[in-house]
Amino acid sequence: MPAEAAASVFPQLEALLPHVQKPIQYVGGELNSTVKPWEACDVRWALMYPDAYEVGLPNQGVMILYEVLNEREGVLAERTYSVWPDLEELMREHGVPQFTVDAHRPVKAFDVFGLSFSTELGYTNMLTALDLAGIPLESKDRGLDDPIVLAGGHAAFNPEPIADFIDAAIIGDGEQAVLDMTDIIRAWKAEGRPGGREEVLLRLARTGSVYIPAFYDVEYLADGRIARVVPNRSGVPWRVSKHTVMDLDEWPYPKQPLVPLAETVHERMSVEIFRGCTRGCRFCQAGMITRPVRERSITGIGEMVEKGLKATGFEEVGLLSLSSADHSEIGDIAKGLADRYEEDKVGLSLPSTRVDAFNVDLANELTRNGRRSGLTFAPEGGSERMRKVINKMVSEEDLIRTVSTAYGNGWRQVKLYFMCGLPTETDEDVLQIADMAMNVIAEGRKVSGQNDIRCTVSIGGFVPKPHTPFQWAPQLSAEETDARLTKLRDKIRGDKKYGRSIGFRYHDGKPGIVEGLLSRGDRRIGSVIRAVYEDGGRFDGWREHFSYDRWMRCADKTLPAFGVDVDWYTTRERTYEEVLPWDHLDSGLDKDWLWEDWQDALDETEVDDCRWTPCFDCGVCPAMSTEIQVGPTGKKLLPLTVKQPVAGGHVH
Ligand code: SF4
Repeated sequence: MPAEAAASVFPQLEALLPHVQKPIQYVGGELNSTVKPWEACDVRWALMYPDAYEVGLPNQGVMILYEVLNEREGVLAERTYSVWPDLEELMREHGVPQFTVDAHRPVKAFDVFGLSFSTELGYTNMLTALDLAGIPLESKDRGLDDPIVLAGGHAAFNPEPIADFIDAAIIGDGEQAVLDMTDIIRAWKAEGRPGGREEVLLRLARTGSVYIPAFYDVEYLADGRIARVVPNRSGVPWRVSKHTVMDLDEWPYPKQPLVPLAETVHERMSVEIFRGCTRGCRFCQAGMITRPVRERSITGIGEMVEKGLKATGFEEVGLLSLSSADHSEIGDIAKGLADRYEEDKVGLSLPSTRVDAFNVDLANELTRNGRRSGLTFAPEGGSERMRKVINKMVSEEDLIRTVSTAYGNGWRQVKLYFMCGLPTETDEDVLQIADMAMNVIAEGRKVSGQNDIRCTVSIGGFVPKPHTPFQWAPQLSAEETDARLTKLRDKIRGDKKYGRSIGFRYHDGKPGIVEGLLSRGDRRIGSVIRAVYEDGGRFDGWREHFSYDRWMRCADKTLPAFGVDVDWYTTRERTYEEVLPWDHLDSGLDKDWLWEDWQDALDETEVDDCRWTPCFDCGVCPAMSTEIQVGPTGKKLLPLTVKQPVAGGHVH
């Protein structure tokens, strides 16, 4: 792509900014952002988190890849986010293309346009960005000068609904994968781009770990189910494998976290303390697809916190992972960090929802000087029976003991997370959430001797996800979900003694059905996504923009041609024999193991965490030629001494 095609569009954009909301989100130049000279690089990536800046900027995945790529000689990466509809309209009117916030270059000028999808609700935003960029919406219409459109992130574990719109997908960890891909593209470009787009995509596909949807044909049975998915080029694997970075200490990213200009959802620095989870909650896609567990060492964490705080000036650190209290040395980590930053007034947070007293101890440690406002626990299922089905091994007794410890330690507010619509669930299971909340309040009043105890119950609708034991499960319809939640609300509100102390937050069942359609959809769903986009669908993850009626209208228009409908994708239970749309994407999990675990769920049989018990043969460790990696290492946090307070302010 010649340099002039990559020239900054800022002069044109600048003229539009006074007319849009929050223009600051489009100007770039954040602390720790990077702009490399275009001509000095031969492989160029545009990275997108397909949501607004305020949600996209803190995304760790994009931040990590941005840094990993920019650190490489001769490679540049810039970021782009979804523009709000007000700017979209002006960009269309004035012919300004989708641009990066770093150097305001047109996205079309880059070699790769990589999108990270944490959720399927970003799909329509991808189409908006492609169209604004002047890149054909469908892969088959793209030419040599269009970027390779690449999907990653958790939703990419079933990229079939967007198969027509992307050129490639990578499943699993991106750090090493983007560098490997860069090398292949660089070599192909250096050779003069032989064989055009087809050739570079073939080279990527033949690695066995880049999925190129166009190289697979999907054959269907007369009843609408998939018969098989077959590679249509030689040398393309039947199954595409996921990427797994084995040693997190080798990848201490982000080293220089981005500091947002505009307000964002997280104003803090995050350090990922381990990746993967083996607790085996059957509803949790993140836990299943990120196996095995890989811990960052205690010293690695200490260094990342220290350097990251220096690089950003943030005053809050979040210790991230899927279940942060499960790090084998979390006690020492929490104490070490609390000791070291006590005088600096650096806030520490551990987004853990584990239901046990240890979690409360950790929270106490991290809030030594802070205000003890609220603690969150996630029993997920309202009844003991339900928690067995989902493999969340928490008894009501555990919960009461835990909240008792919390209230006894001065915490005044407890938040409980649940799901509604879980497999085999009845009204009774959900109504027990009310009993649980009432018992929590009663215990809180008893332990604290006060009446102003609060408990908030927050409920999300369950959406069955690919690569989990619940991938075969029927989803509860939006109407049934709403009816069940209404009964629960009435039970809570109707209780004279405790009702006023219980907050109740829930979403209606409609967005869950759209998410379900996109999560377990196949290539035929692409026509629905396109129709929704063309009908004006944008920012589906935002309540004020999401339109269930639009999704259903577009589905009713497009799906009958294939003999299927929304219920077929959502509320229908799948059988063992059915070929699932994502079966050719190998998450490392053995399908038979997932099926057995689904049967165990139906029998209400629990399975332990394999970190502490023998292996259950889920398949991941042999597939990755590894084993579970946990400490303790016995090392101390850092060879540094605890800082002494310095008169007048912060030390660093
Ligand atoms: S293969 Fe065994 S040890 Fe490894 S994650 Fe699966 S169940 Fe756990």
